[in-house]
Amino acid sequence: MPWLGFAAVGVGGGAGLLAASSWAGFFAGVAAAAASALVAWVATRPLQADLETLSTAARGLARELSSDPTSRNADTRKLAREVNELAEQTRKLSLAHDTLTAVLDRMPDGVWITSADGTIVRHNAALQELLYPMTTLTGQRPIAVLRSTQLQEAVVRACEAAEPARLEVPVEGLRPRTLAVDVVPLGKELGGSAAVFRDVSELRRLEKVRQDFVANVSHELATPITAIRGYAETLREGALRDPENAPQMVEIIHRQSERLSELVRDLLELSRLDAKEQKLQVEPVALAEVAARAAEAVRPKASSKGITLELSVPTELVAQADARGIEQVLLNLLDNAVKYTPRGGRVEVRGQTADGRCAVSVRDTGVGIEAKHLPRVFERFYRVDKGRSRDMGGTGLGLSIVKNLMTAMEGDVRVESIPGKGTTFTVTVPTQTG
Ligand code: ADP
Repeated sequence: MPWLGFAAVGVGGGAGLLAASSWAGFFAGVAAAAASALVAWVATRPLQADLETLSTAARGLARELSSDPTSRNADTRKLAREVNELAEQTRKLSLAHDTLTAVLDRMPDGVWITSADGTIVRHNAALQELLYPMTTLTGQRPIAVLRSTQLQEAVVRACEAAEPARLEVPVEGLRPRTLAVDVVPLGKELGGSAAVFRDVSELRRLEKVRQDFVANVSHELATPITAIRGYAETLREGALRDPENAPQMVEIIHRQSERLSELVRDLLELSRLDAKEQKLQVEPVALAEVAARAAEAVRPKASSKGITLELSVPTELVAQADARGIEQVLLNLLDNAVKYTPRGGRVEVRGQTADGRCAVSVRDTGVGIEAKHLPRVFERFYRVDKGRSRDMGGTGLGLSIVKNLMTAMEGDVRVESIPGKGTTFTVTVPTQTG
């Protein structure tokens, strides 16, 4: 630990050296302080006190020299000037030390410094925070702190071969995280290494979400395309002249192409919402009218399944929302309610004021959703029962569109369900203002 040695020896005796008028010692002390200014943070706190003592002593000495009537010759005046300059340099060093300490202690990235043998000798507050609940870092080897042989080896290479490294280290425990680490050698003179840590967990999570999304989209598109191509080829190879099977194949091609266009429509809607391209027009919206329009759109499907569709939204319920957005939300919820309710069931739309907001719930007597799936149904492409959703013509995107629209309107959506009995989705939006 050469720099720690310097802090204790080079500067520590500054005042004493001056009192004894040992100029060589004084100059050596200041020169060593200058060389170490940039790594002052590495040194222990007493360095700061030493620099201040040195600066005060030098100023005192300069005053004494210039006022001493017995020594007013040119050499003494020159010496007094030099001592003054040194005092000024020492003050600057002290400031540099303070700045560096403040920067490192307040920076959001974690930093540690190791000695030449790879032991951690200093770290900043952010690193302590990143590695919480681990408390003792100083005096430890990297492997003992993060259990990563890769990081341990990187630190050793930085110390011994002056090789920098960049790597990612997983942190297990209560708060599993991924840390990106840059390890840099501190150079021959100082020995040792520094490492900078940044939490990249959220970045990696988003990358994974994006990759999964692309994989899901490709899969969802591939399924209908494969069916369309397969049946078209069969027809081309002769089935077209088969009056018994041809109409059925054409029907499948038509259904699958509808599925494709629904998927593309939902994807475009989501991407517009993501890009915040779609300008929401927030204005007073009579919820009874919007709910009635959404209900009319699903009524034919409900009737064909013998499902009773009931509306009970008071006319005075006026929300501050985007009319098209709220209609889309209710349409998606009603479409699902009808889709996942067996023949002869019942779907109700109720409106009321709750906690000063407008609340509209869509309740069905359908298949319900098990509790373990409830937190995930708003995720893109999440389906409780993949087969059932596809058979019903679902894209797996309806509820994520609902969630996005509600967020954009400063609204909220909740779900409650009892498997086998039914599901209730409730959306809330601000009430009309002004
Ligand atoms: P999908 O197009 O598959 O319906 P959604 O995003 O609209 O996709 O819904 C996600 C999943 O949530 C559905 O696949 C279904 O499993 C479940 N779900 C949604 N609404 C209901 C409901 N009213 N009753 C039962 N399950 C539902």
